[in-house]
Amino acid sequence: MPHSEYIGRFAPSPSGDLHFGSLIAALGSYLQARSQQGKWLVRIEDIDPPREVPGSAYRILSALERYGLFWDDDVLYQSQRHAAYDDVLAWLESQSLSYHCTCTRSRIQQIGGVYDGHCRERHLDAKGAAIRLRQTQPVFSFQDLLQGEIQADRQLAAEDFIIRRRDGLYAYNLAVVVDDHFQGVTEIVRGSDLIEPTVRQIALFQQLNYPVPGYLHLPLALNSQGDKLSKQNHAPALPEGDPRPILVQALEFLQQPVPESWQDLDLQLLLRWAVTHWDTVSLPKNR
Ligand code: GLU
Ligand code: ZN
Repeated sequence: MPHSEYIGRFAPSPSGDLHFGSLIAALGSYLQARSQQGKWLVRIEDIDPPREVPGSAYRILSALERYGLFWDDDVLYQSQRHAAYDDVLAWLESQSLSYHCTCTRSRIQQIGGVYDGHCRERHLDAKGAAIRLRQTQPVFSFQDLLQGEIQADRQLAAEDFIIRRRDGLYAYNLAVVVDDHFQGVTEIVRGSDLIEPTVRQIALFQQLNYPVPGYLHLPLALNSQGDKLSKQNHAPALPEGDPRPILVQALEFLQQPVPESWQDLDLQLLLRWAVTHWDTVSLPKNR
């Protein structure tokens, strides 16, 4: 047994179907984990019911299976993790590392869009309030395993960001950190649309005395207009039928070698080939 096991993950939100952009994140994290004999976990980030598209969690998982991307262990659903988030929120509060805030979005807009700590010493109660992290050791930069040193916007990095929303929903930055730790994730491979919140996540890992995972942010696939492929701008779902041509496109996008006669390989052999030839040095470094 290797004593330091690699654990990677893919953590889609069920707000739409898997598209080429999210397939890149799934495939990249899968190949990186499998090339190190690591585990690859899947977590459904269903913490925002109003933005959830019914049936999409199931369709995302079916699409992963159709692409031969089989995960280890059981899928973790964030909707089942509320007790764990509450425990962490209670601990942060007990350490005075969080506080309630009733500031409106328009007040924050008026002061330039970055929260100024207005409620830090107001000792408000929970009613109608969001919960913010009291940042005592903000993180301003990190070493990305592909992109190198990333310098964050200093004001945004130091902001006392929201960890539970005023409407009672848990914030993405809270849930992602609690669960990456819970699942023992050692390295996070995901799209570069998530570079910006990374310093906040690292700060939260540190406030919670959790070990900080490694980060590798993959370039984003763009549509023909140059916009990132996302659910927000209606990236098409992956086509039905033979997944291999799409996988080949995804490998080419990641500047990975493709076997010359891939048509002769079945899906599992193609993926096995891709695992063996996976090379992060060749990955494109653009975001
Ligand atoms: N659930 C997030 C999304 O789909 C990704 C979370 C992550 O990889 O950290 O955009
Ligand atoms: Zn406030």
